[in-house]
Amino acid sequence: MNYIIFDLEWNQCSAAQENRIEGLPFEIVEIGAVKLNSNREVISEFSQLIKPQVYREMHYITSKLVHLHIEELESGKPFPEVMKKFLEWCGTDYIFCTWGGLDLTELQRNMRYYKMPDLADGPIKYYDIQKLFSLAYEDGQSRRALEYAIDMMNIRKNIPFHRAFSDAYYTAKIFDTIEDPNVIEKFSFDTYHLPKTRDDEVHIVFSNYDKYISRKFENKSDLLRDKGVMSTVCYKCGRRLKKKVNWYSLNGKHYYAFSGCFRHGIMKSKLRIRKAEGGGVYAVKTDKYITKEVMKEMLRKKDEILEQRRQRNSVEA
Ligand SMILES: [Zn+2]
Repeated sequence: MNYIIFDLEWNQCSAAQENRIEGLPFEIVEIGAVKLNSNREVISEFSQLIKPQVYREMHYITSKLVHLHIEELESGKPFPEVMKKFLEWCGTDYIFCTWGGLDLTELQRNMRYYKMPDLADGPIKYYDIQKLFSLAYEDGQSRRALEYAIDMMNIRKNIPFHRAFSDAYYTAKIFDTIEDPNVIEKFSFDTYHLPKTRDDEVHIVFSNYDKYISRKFENKSDLLRDKGVMSTVCYKCGRRLKKKVNWYSLNGKHYYAFSGCFRHGIMKSKLRIRKAEGGGVYAVKTDKYITKEVMKEMLRKKDEILEQRRQRNSVEA
């Protein structure tokens, strides 16, 4: 299997918000990519400018960030033509890799705008190299700029940043430094297309946690009522677990619950509710085994925040 490491540059509406085209907040103006074989050796390169059809002026943020001028883009080809060439170049047996989690979604939004066939009918598995970099060298939570990562790894900066090809090239350089199998197993899913049915839902077990991506729900209360979403099951032995502490949320977006498996200990479940493309919501749930102390500390923090709110409310009343 090959790795397709790609990067996009995009433009956005430069005038008032009203002129923004529904369904195309960011218009892709460049695609750059490198293809690596399974040994992560570069076997091919792709770089193509795209002639803008929607936003004909360069947004000032884009032109500051990207070293591109609207005049240069006039020499580009229309998006559908470039995209078709890009997919032919990708071949059939590959996995996408990007720096951060935005590019694959924007790519699919642009494809839909031009009524091209969908890339997939469900979530697309890919590598977010920005996340892998954090897991390999930092705390797993931080998200660094690409140039920061290149500096940290002492990689030679022989071409300028912030063009699609160069950023894909540098992302490949970072990917090449990551060897730890516990990091390499942590692929991501792009959720532009959600699982269509309960049977299509994503269940993945990693070495130290598991991840679940639900299908789409009309609204949050439907989602929170769904038994499949809200149940807690041990990802090590498959037992349905009894909750020690039922789901609670401090911000209405992230929910936590604690359950006990008599063989494996205390499992923390975290449920994130996200907006689905085109309306509705879906859930991303992760489970992880933790110590009793970690659970106690989380519950202490929760009680502290709830108590602060109670006091604030009673003062306001
Ligand atoms: Zn268990």
